[in-house]
Amino acid sequence: MNREQLKNLVDDVYSEKGFVDVIRLANELGIEVVVEKRPEEFNACIEYDKQTGKCRIIANMLHSLSRFRFSVAHEIAHFVLHQQLVKKEGLLNREKKNSDNFKIEREADRLAGEILMPASAVKEYFDRQGIREGDQVNEEAVNQFARDFRVSTYAAAIRLKELHYLVPGIVLA
Ligand SMILES: [Zn+2]
Repeated sequence: MNREQLKNLVDDVYSEKGFVDVIRLANELGIEVVVEKRPEEFNACIEYDKQTGKCRIIANMLHSLSRFRFSVAHEIAHFVLHQQLVKKEGLLNREKKNSDNFKIEREADRLAGEILMPASAVKEYFDRQGIREGDQVNEEAVNQFARDFRVSTYAAAIRLKELHYLVPGIVLA
């Protein structure tokens, strides 16, 4: 699975429901998603089962929907970007803190944003409102966008900035 294939798959999954169902996306990639009650600080992890050759994402059901969805998307990103590492280590989570780890976590966060808010879908969404790249998206519109894409306002603002929309500074303090 390369980035281009992922992008096509994400676009398909988005067009089914008008938001990206991350569990469906994971399943399409052959990944099982297990939802468990875990301590507050646990977001999610991805495990590789050497026996079956399959990956499994475990996510925390106690978190808000937007946080849960971001965590699953983050682990899917690891699957796409760092699959060799996942297979070698057997498990990836956010416990270990070193500079290498910081880099891959940033990469996974960034791709998670792309998964949940595909560029083409975002563009269409704002085009319909007459808002173009480079235009200001006011706070209310950012909040509505976050609700429609089922993400946090924070994740929404980061992604919109990445896609060259102007977002109110207060959201990205
Ligand atoms: Zn991670």
